[in-house]
Amino acid sequence: MYYRPMRKFKLPKSVNICGKTYKVKAFKDSTKLDPESNRFLRGLCLPKNQEIRIHTEVEPEDMLDTFLHEIIHAIFFEMLGLSETIPENQKEVFTSDFATVLADTLVRNLLMQP
Ligand SMILES: [Zn+2]
Repeated sequence: MYYRPMRKFKLPKSVNICGKTYKVKAFKDSTKLDPESNRFLRGLCLPKNQEIRIHTEVEPEDMLDTFLHEIIHAIFFEMLGLSETIPENQKEVFTSDFATVLADTLVRNLLMQP
């Protein structure tokens, strides 16, 4: 999907979502993102803790895509009502598609190039 490959994508230490500071934590081991489930995860958003966890041992484009995916989850949570009116499976599909298109737009327009 990307026409210009990224050389790197540097995760910030935190990100402001709707006026709230979410900590951004990097994980090399994808099974450590959610210790309770032991699943392989690319990212996880914990809006009640204001925390986003990202698996970093992936290509830069994939990390950007995942980071935007988790930001969109956080925005949904902060936009009260929207997160509760959309069924979980629809929210996941929308979030994934939207994150991928947004990442592609940012990369194509050189907004995310190092
Ligand atoms: Zn998701």
